[in-house]
Amino acid sequence: MGTCSLALADVPAQAAATAPATTTPTSKPAPLVYIERGTLPLIISAPHGGRLPIPGADVRTGGNFLIKKGKKNNFTMAFDANVDLVALQLADEIERRTGQRPYLVVANFSRRFVDANRTPEEAYESEPGRIVYEAYHNAIRTARAEIINEYKRGLLIDIHGHGGDPESIIRGTADWTSVRHLVEEFGKDALVGPKGLLTPIAAGGANKFNPPLDQLDALEVPSLNGGFITRQYGSYAGGNFDSIQFELGNRYRKRENIPPFVKQLADGIVPFVQTYIIDAPRTVGVLATTGPASTSQAAGPSDASPATKPAELLAP
Ligand SMILES: [Zn+2]
Repeated sequence: MGTCSLALADVPAQAAATAPATTTPTSKPAPLVYIERGTLPLIISAPHGGRLPIPGADVRTGGNFLIKKGKKNNFTMAFDANVDLVALQLADEIERRTGQRPYLVVANFSRRFVDANRTPEEAYESEPGRIVYEAYHNAIRTARAEIINEYKRGLLIDIHGHGGDPESIIRGTADWTSVRHLVEEFGKDALVGPKGLLTPIAAGGANKFNPPLDQLDALEVPSLNGGFITRQYGSYAGGNFDSIQFELGNRYRKRENIPPFVKQLADGIVPFVQTYIIDAPRTVGVLATTGPASTSQAAGPSDASPATKPAELLAP
């Protein structure tokens, strides 16, 4: 990969999480948030695959959802099985190909205590939960700031699992708005063109995106079209840092299917990072801040959050 790489340095201390320098299992207890500082302009996040309880934290009840919305229409503690393994093995595959690693922010904590893909008011109901939530988001914010400083643009991929069609990968960009910078600068080709992010992943026909890649104007699945993380850290409200959510059907998350699948993911991700982030001219300014093209957002039980005003997206 290119010569523009970040120097390795110590990972900043985290309140509730430590970052081992290796993904090799050790006898040490797993941190509640697994954080790795990367050397590529890419963050891989997986907030819903953890199983560990958070000591001292209360199990979430959804009470704040009730207050906010009048019903528990967006509250779930569902576990996205094996998305942590997908994230870690994807990082390893990218390193095999490029010699460099993405940033990683992976939950080992259970969604029963903290949902890192929700606004703070909905994400936790206890102080220990707050600390872990902040550790997760501080890690993303730190990585994102480092990447923007070095590369002027970057990408976050938020990895989830859904319980619908097991063959389906549901794309979540809040209907292209979390990748607004990419679309405005390069067109939708950045995602679905020959060197786009998704095209090589779908090549051969084994991996099926929803919406299909050739349906450029099709709306995404309303309840799974990008949650808080995707909307908070993408270019929805401006800037050159984009984000996308992958909701993986069960087939992609079976243990035996993960090694070949992460190779297919890397087939799309590695050329994308090279072409659209590292090699692209860095003369662009920050895009004007305007609202998203579409804020349609049906309430659903999973990884979507209600449309958020741009001003809230820019809040720390
Ligand atoms: Zn999820």
